[in-house]
Amino acid sequence: MEKGLISVDRWTEHSQAYFLTHLHSDHTQGLSSSWAKGPIFCSRLTAKLFPFKFPGFNLSLLRLLAVGTWHSISLVSPSSASSSTLQVMPIDAHHCPGAVMFLFRGEFGCLLYTGDFRWETTSKRAEIGRTMLLNALKDDVVDILYLDNTYCNPSYAFPSRAIIAQQVIDIIVSHPEHDIIIGIDSLGKEDLLLHISHELKIKIWVWPERLQTMHLLGFHDIFTTKTSLTRVRAVPRYSFSVETLEGLNTMHPTIGIMPSGLPWVVRPLENGDKLFGSLLTSRYNRSKWSGNGGNHTEKPNGNLGSVEKFHKYIYSVPYSDHSCFAEIEDFVKLVQPTNMKGIVSSSSCYVDPLYYFGRLCGAYQSAQSLPHNKRKERVERVLAVNNKTTFRCGASAGVERKRAMTVKVKSSGIHASRMSALRRKKRGAKIEENDRPN
Ligand SMILES: [Zn+2]
Repeated sequence: MEKGLISVDRWTEHSQAYFLTHLHSDHTQGLSSSWAKGPIFCSRLTAKLFPFKFPGFNLSLLRLLAVGTWHSISLVSPSSASSSTLQVMPIDAHHCPGAVMFLFRGEFGCLLYTGDFRWETTSKRAEIGRTMLLNALKDDVVDILYLDNTYCNPSYAFPSRAIIAQQVIDIIVSHPEHDIIIGIDSLGKEDLLLHISHELKIKIWVWPERLQTMHLLGFHDIFTTKTSLTRVRAVPRYSFSVETLEGLNTMHPTIGIMPSGLPWVVRPLENGDKLFGSLLTSRYNRSKWSGNGGNHTEKPNGNLGSVEKFHKYIYSVPYSDHSCFAEIEDFVKLVQPTNMKGIVSSSSCYVDPLYYFGRLCGAYQSAQSLPHNKRKERVERVLAVNNKTTFRCGASAGVERKRAMTVKVKSSGIHASRMSALRRKKRGAKIEENDRPN
């Protein structure tokens, strides 16, 4: 595709049209209330939430795209001034409210940009998405797949959100006298909160801005800002810390639940080079959870089998809105693209999905076919890079957020950090000439 024609989740350069997959901050860096570079194409729900995130935004620049429908967009070549037509279909990414993938078709070929997505094998919504995608593709081949590679590593093997949601219920029920706090972002994890509310017949406390978002999403009776009405509170992730939990426990017994696919690891304060346990050592028993794309029927050890008690007051549960490794693999097998690129990158760490899934594309040499030593070398290199990586949730994460993610447990002399092998520092793509499939 010609340079400067379209950008997806990328706002720093000039394009003819801009596409927004969803409203998480790591996808909106460079976008602001004063945006005037051009029209932004997004889902209807994202458009509805848009003014709340960007107050004062010129809403006439938003172009709503219905999910599951092909839309034609006329573009003019910046270099030749000739016009061309782009076709695009948004498909439910089942990530957070409003999140979509974009399937593009045009002179440049066929491109699929997933944004962040989670398609569990057991999810009806994902099944609808799969059918929609295959029907839209017909006999077309995806020339380039831009893939959510957040958990593109075999160590990221975790169960479906439905299983983990039930485990969260079990945790809460097993603490009848405790207050419960759950760390969430400004968008996402609504289904988990709804499940808790429905199963336990209680309201969920949220902070005032989050209540507004819940109302925009149509949830009017489930959430409250009155602490007296419930013992379950969903709090901003940046305020969720060991210190917060310790402080709360001086007043009332309280436990914290952190839903995320990212593992927590512990490392010594004095020797930052060595971790207690590898970053890439999954907390889950892979033989139980991996290899079937999240289609898990086996119950983990007891009711709380895969739940990790990170701290005496904190449970870490692998409730993730991103696909686990097996689900990513299933997705690549489904799409069978000619080529692919990961959308998650940072200056220090990037796991190329071709490393694991190149054999499914056919365009690149399979990782399996690499000589053993070479493969080992590459694995070790990935491990080395990842172990140096410190966690930050998005480049826009401010000091406050960084502090929240780094939990210091002074009394025990250890430094515990929440680590990600893949810092979500930068997302988005500008589809350019050199992306043109061969
Ligand atoms: Zn996201």
